[in-house]
Amino acid sequence: MTMCDTLYIVVPCYNEEEVLPETARRLGDKLRGLMAAGKISPKSRVLFVNDGSRDGTWGVISRLHAADPLFSGVDLSRNRGHQNALLAGLMTARDRCDMAVSMDADLQDDVDAVDAMLEKYSEGCDIVYGVRSSRKKDTFFKRVTAEGFYRVMNFLGAETVFNHADYRLMSRRALDGLAEFREVNLFLRGIVPMIGYIVGTVEYERGERFAGESKYPLKKMLSFAMEGITSLSTKPIRYITLLGFLIFLVSLLMLVYSIVRWAHGDTIVGWASLICSVWAIGGLILLSLGVIGEYIGKIYLETKARPRFLIREILEDGNGKAD
Ligand code: UDP
Ligand code: MG
Repeated sequence: MTMCDTLYIVVPCYNEEEVLPETARRLGDKLRGLMAAGKISPKSRVLFVNDGSRDGTWGVISRLHAADPLFSGVDLSRNRGHQNALLAGLMTARDRCDMAVSMDADLQDDVDAVDAMLEKYSEGCDIVYGVRSSRKKDTFFKRVTAEGFYRVMNFLGAETVFNHADYRLMSRRALDGLAEFREVNLFLRGIVPMIGYIVGTVEYERGERFAGESKYPLKKMLSFAMEGITSLSTKPIRYITLLGFLIFLVSLLMLVYSIVRWAHGDTIVGWASLICSVWAIGGLILLSLGVIGEYIGKIYLETKARPRFLIREILEDGNGKAD
């Protein structure tokens, strides 16, 4: 790392007016400290992305920017979700910085881990993952569901970094790589490992949300998990084939068994077995169609190639661009 590498900290914000002043204070202190130590260039910025908030988030960002050019902002045309907002921030930062750190607005990620990330960057890493060393502060429910999710992802062969959310450093080269991935169904945690280059990890303790409520209620979390699985792995379709084959085998065995019994003059009667198997198979067929439909829906959306975000306004001081 040369003395003048520019760092952008990208923070997606959705209805975060309560936390933003504190987030800005801590990130501002961090950047100023790093600048004073000569570790990053004075062109480094905190880039807040307003993801179509319904509260005064954009107003807070504008005021922060007016008070200190260290803070810049991107205002999206509407709410596009965490992943798209993050992408919008990273793509905006791409031609302005040498490296970008993405983090949530709620201060759950330890800001001090940035130092360790920069250290790894200076050792040549292109991507440095922030990995939670413990989830003590998360609710029991969140811990169990998150754990289950990573296990399912691994089982399905999708490469994700265990206990890593979207707190990571990416070099300019890695950001350029990310720009090449044009999928509309965006699941960054799955895409970033596909970029490759030199990778490192940094451990940190994940704290509690500083203020406000989680923007990921159960329903959103489930659809996020579904998104992750279906956009990274086609194994569920293969398991359906396997399931169909197994059921066919079982039915063959039952057929042979009934014929043998019949040959011995003992015809099997049974309404219950019949209706149960019809319903069971019917259920499985619908389930399978649903899974396949999920993929077809993905194909449908991908072929449309709609824009993933639209930017309404960028707030930055004139000389924000890196050369
Ligand atoms: N977020 C966003 N758009 C959304 C929902 C969330 O930009 O539609 C941001 C949010 O402001 C926060 C980050 O994504 O910075 C993570 O959200 P949150 O902390 O609520 O999720 P949790 O930590 O509970 O999983
Ligand atoms: Mg959070």
